Amino acid sequence: MIEKLVIANRGEIALRIQRACRELGVRTVAVHSEADRDAKYVKLAEESVCIGPPQATESYLNTPAVIAAAEVTSANAIHPGYGFLSENADFAEHVEQSGFLFVGPKAETIRLMGDKVSAIRTMKEAGIPCVPGSDGPLGEDDEENLKIAEQIGYPVIIKAAGGGGGKGMRIVYTESALLNAILLTRAEAGAAFNNDVVYMEKFLESPRHIEFQVLADEYGNTIHLGDRDCSMQRRHQKIVEEAPAPGIGDDRRAEMGEKCAEACRKIGYRSAGTFEFLYQDAEFYFIEMNTRIQVEHPVTEMVTGVDLVKQQIRIASGERLDLHQDDVVIRGHAIECRINAEDPDSFFPSPGRVEQYHQPGGPGIRVDSHIYNSYVVPPYYDSLIAKLVAYGASRHEAMARMRSALSEMVVDGIKTNIPLHRKIMSDRGYIDAEFTIHYIEQSVAK
Ligand code: ADP
Repeated sequence: MIEKLVIANRGEIALRIQRACRELGVRTVAVHSEADRDAKYVKLAEESVCIGPPQATESYLNTPAVIAAAEVTSANAIHPGYGFLSENADFAEHVEQSGFLFVGPKAETIRLMGDKVSAIRTMKEAGIPCVPGSDGPLGEDDEENLKIAEQIGYPVIIKAAGGGGGKGMRIVYTESALLNAILLTRAEAGAAFNNDVVYMEKFLESPRHIEFQVLADEYGNTIHLGDRDCSMQRRHQKIVEEAPAPGIGDDRRAEMGEKCAEACRKIGYRSAGTFEFLYQDAEFYFIEMNTRIQVEHPVTEMVTGVDLVKQQIRIASGERLDLHQDDVVIRGHAIECRINAEDPDSFFPSPGRVEQYHQPGGPGIRVDSHIYNSYVVPPYYDSLIAKLVAYGASRHEAMARMRSALSEMVVDGIKTNIPLHRKIMSDRGYIDAEFTIHYIEQSVAK
């Protein structure tokens, strides 16, 4: 059983994990950088350990410092949250080798899914539909590569096996540009990810991003909790997410979700996870699996009533899933707006002191945020300061509640993207759910 847990993260997710622990009767240790000394969750934790200077590489990404914090506080588990060390297989391995429970999948699973070529191969074998592509790394043979592209059909996309965060990808529209694009992507991938393996996929021109949430225990019990639409993105960063995905029928959702749950059984998956797909012309194409809790998990919690973070902690404690697929019922609709400390037009980060903070409320409103009046948003980390979530019996009601909440919300002293969210929530294309992953860049934030 997990008795005392180190939260190896910061910001809203640190607070979210702490709340789950409090409900479960698990004591928490907050590890923090010098910049986060005054954070709410640090004060609320039973214990806290400063693990280094503000720079993430010196603190939140410092494996020995995080593990030492667990040792000195006699904790018995570590939750990595999202970002930072959450999908670092070496970290997960160190945690377990040091005798702590890791709240997440086995290190080998993280490693398998972290390499996109091996992830796609594994998923294909497990019956998950993938994007037509090179079925493995591209070799050095130019003729062969030209042939692969011709078979797939242009446009194609060259992607780095070790890529992440929307980096290490290049779209190719014509045969004459292919070989150079492979060389360039290979060189960039080698420099950025220390792995120059690249592969090729059909480039889908107007897809939506739809993902499926799964939960799996270590005894082979796996379930899915439906889908989320995360098409509202800018530069591959999600801005608005919702569940369920509009326009996907219940039968189709159940069929795809079951495929994902089945794939989890086949690969021996453990913990919460997400299967990400591109969806175009009524077909799903797997692009990657995230082996951690995601920023947008609250929309799934709102429509299913399942607390995903508590489930993760219970699973890591070795408990059996207390839910069967039939227990998961999707009811109503939920939307999440990511409130970032940034200029709503230029998207430049806007750290600094929050002079006034007023949190909205009312029926169906949930706010996951670590900020408060006079909180200082540090300049060192990502700009997410709050997740505003609206639930309604229908998508229409969820949008109306979100509009109302956005009109009530006050964050003064710094710039935020609240004006952009107000624009999105009253945008015709968004309201009618007629969008692709390019919609924000093409129509709302041009
Ligand atoms: P990362 O790990 O860097 O996020 P992904 O493989 O998830 O990489 O791709 C990130 C984004 O790039 C996708 O959400 C999508 O917008 C775009 N993308 C990736 N592969 C394709 C593809 N085959 N066709 C069209 N767009 C793609």
